[in-house]
Amino acid sequence: MKLHIVGSGCPQPTPNWCGSSFVLETPTERVMVDCGPGTTYKLARLGMKATQIDHLFLTHHHFDHNVDFPCFALVRWDLSTGNEPPLRVFGPQPTERFVTKLLGPDGAFYPDWKARVEHPASRECHRMRGGELPRPAPDVEPMDLVSGSVVETDSCRVTASRVHHVDPWLESLVYRFDTDEGSICFAGDCGDCRELRDAARGVDTLVMACTHFGRQHMSADVVDVITGTPEAIAVGNEAGVQRLILTHVSPSFSRPGIRERAIAEIARSYSGAIVFPDELTTVELRDLGAHTPL
Ligand SMILES: [Zn+2]
Repeated sequence: MKLHIVGSGCPQPTPNWCGSSFVLETPTERVMVDCGPGTTYKLARLGMKATQIDHLFLTHHHFDHNVDFPCFALVRWDLSTGNEPPLRVFGPQPTERFVTKLLGPDGAFYPDWKARVEHPASRECHRMRGGELPRPAPDVEPMDLVSGSVVETDSCRVTASRVHHVDPWLESLVYRFDTDEGSICFAGDCGDCRELRDAARGVDTLVMACTHFGRQHMSADVVDVITGTPEAIAVGNEAGVQRLILTHVSPSFSRPGIRERAIAEIARSYSGAIVFPDELTTVELRDLGAHTPL
């Protein structure tokens, strides 16, 4: 099993990081978690096609986690022959409304895909890619999830848990994936809370935000909604996580040596493996070596 780090940054773009997106690759499928800025383009840079992904799980509806969704869904549809399964999209409410207002009959992108369905030139392109006419409309199945919702994919049993982030304006979910190859929990950019620790309890791998180093210059309001090095130590230890994959870095982590200092700080109090990966890289999940180098 592999984890592709498609996006591991914040809303503010830097040359190396922007937004959140991950693809979990099992022996039989690829499943995406979050679809932040540039995801579809970055998939191509990682050698993946949108048509290879049939399931998307959104942790919450901040734009650094969802803004590339229409691009991803439309590219997947545009490159499909019509024989692919529907794209299933899961997330906290208002995921169903979010998808419908983008791609539905009254949606923002309806004129685009309707023109591609109807225009002879677009039909010809579809036929040349192996599709048959009449060209089908985008086939996307959104579903709002709540805490305790369980989704089964081909190789994963996915359990959603509601966590604390920017309530009450947005709901946020973490997802625990249990597979034959191991377990992995995805936290978006939530704060440290009981629900996060319960969802991550005993997992092989926890993907969590590390946006700040220590408590330097951080207000209580910020620390309340997103995790940094102190929370990585606390959650990793209390939940008994074997490996932390740290993501959602702030631009301050672009300074030389900051990630190394963060790893060293966490390693002093947490004995599991620590991975602080670059964007556009792939982490092999079967190897649980300690303190994987950058
Ligand atoms: Zn957020």
